[in-house]
Amino acid sequence: MISDIFCKIVQKELPAEIVYEDEEFLVIKDIHPQAPVHLLVVPKKHFDQIHAASHEDLDLLGKMVLVAGKAAKLAGTEEKGYRLIINQGQDGGQLVPHLHLHLLGGKALGPKIIR
Ligand code: AMP
Repeated sequence: MISDIFCKIVQKELPAEIVYEDEEFLVIKDIHPQAPVHLLVVPKKHFDQIHAASHEDLDLLGKMVLVAGKAAKLAGTEEKGYRLIINQGQDGGQLVPHLHLHLLGGKALGPKIIR
């Protein structure tokens, strides 16, 4: 069975600062925040590669964006804005091999790509 750090947080085997939870998702505070608001939208179901997704995953992927919108409101970033990011694979800088959406905000975030 696959068990990465986010699977362990979902199973409550590891602690995390949970700001939202429903049947399918957790939203947690990033342990190393890169902005005043840095949340991670984590599907409870283990899922890794976006490029391996199929039509069967549409529901999960769509809901992940809806949950990000809820999280943006909970964090109070809906008015001034925020950025959603998915890192994928080695060149994408992905550290945890479990799909998650970063929600960053709370300040003007600057250039979209750091060179
Ligand atoms: P990524 O590079 O997209 O895989 O990002 C993984 C993110 O998870 C990083 O921003 C880490 O700071 C964050 N992270 C790692 N471990 C934890 C944890 N135990 N609780 C919350 N965030 C974590």
